[in-house]
Amino acid sequence: MISIDAAIPSGRITVRNASDASDIQLDVPKDPESNFLGWYHFRASGVRGRKCRFRLMNAGESRAVRLANREGIEDRWTHTGPLASYDLVNWFRINATFDGTTFDFEHEPAFDVCYYAAFAPFPPERDQRLIAGALASPLARLETIGHSLQARPIDLLTMGAPTPEKKQCWIIARQHPSETQAGFFIEGLIERLLNAQDAVARALLEQAVFYIVPNMNPDGSANGFSRTTSTGVNLNREWASPSDERSPEVVAVQDAMRRIGLDFCIDCHADPELRCNFVWPSQNVPTWNADRQRVFEYFEDAWHAASPDYGLGEVYPGGVPQEADLSMAWNWIGNAFPHALSVLLEQPFKDTRYTPVPATGWTPQRASRFGAAFLDGLHGVIDHLRKQ
Ligand SMILES: [Zn+2]
Repeated sequence: MISIDAAIPSGRITVRNASDASDIQLDVPKDPESNFLGWYHFRASGVRGRKCRFRLMNAGESRAVRLANREGIEDRWTHTGPLASYDLVNWFRINATFDGTTFDFEHEPAFDVCYYAAFAPFPPERDQRLIAGALASPLARLETIGHSLQARPIDLLTMGAPTPEKKQCWIIARQHPSETQAGFFIEGLIERLLNAQDAVARALLEQAVFYIVPNMNPDGSANGFSRTTSTGVNLNREWASPSDERSPEVVAVQDAMRRIGLDFCIDCHADPELRCNFVWPSQNVPTWNADRQRVFEYFEDAWHAASPDYGLGEVYPGGVPQEADLSMAWNWIGNAFPHALSVLLEQPFKDTRYTPVPATGWTPQRASRFGAAFLDGLHGVIDHLRKQ
């Protein structure tokens, strides 16, 4: 008998009908109190050697909640497919089709259990292992700076010994829990930062202290939500006026930033529609100026030189908003810390347009290598921070 299960870490799917392997009908649940949908992750069992056809019947409903100015951009379901795995370690890409309503893929699993997901999951236990791995180094300290509404810890990892001269570099991730690429990105950069044989890592730690919040929305991650917390709050629209009642995660991170200081911040996301790695500075805050723009360009150039997966010349979809939306983290930070470089990062779910790997698309491994290469970008700009 085939069983489709979502009660697994970061799992999310509902079953309409799984009685026939050749027509397994599923739905992607919406986030709580919200119309967002997109993330799915489920386990199929009893499937070895069976030609399975999976259909996400309501996929097209996600088009009603697309971001503004996306008319000319392909939707999240087109020209891509799910990642699949037998062991939750190695993930491979499956082709799929989308007819505007239903997302449709076929697979004949080699084993009796196979997992399918919008991207490789980064479940709660992996957050804990990431932290434990970092804390094996004497360079790393951990402080729990707050709690989510479901009482999960908001952790701040500090790498390096603070001194007044060192630049304060922040890396925050996973306000949107389905954007697991950000978790793999941070794994890669921490691993490199702790490699004493790496000259860039050593140089950075002499000049900077890293403040890393690996998961700003642990409730959403644990529950398999796309963009919200357990009460349907989109944390990246809370920064202008966060509250303990709605968004204690943002309150905790803002308090820590004000207490510690901030010269650089990258807020790590992923975009299910874009075919690029996309970084944008907070260039519409009132304090933006030519010096800050120049520092951003140094950063971009150095990152691109280290990793062609960072493509230069990508533009903000639909054009840059004329007025900075201070409810979003990168703009709020760029406004609150007028000397700092604050950027938004979007990685793809699909692949890059300019360095594609058709067999796999974007993968956790590429996200991890991209996180390691980010340190080259930061190294290229570290001397310029706090000067403009
Ligand atoms: Zn996001």
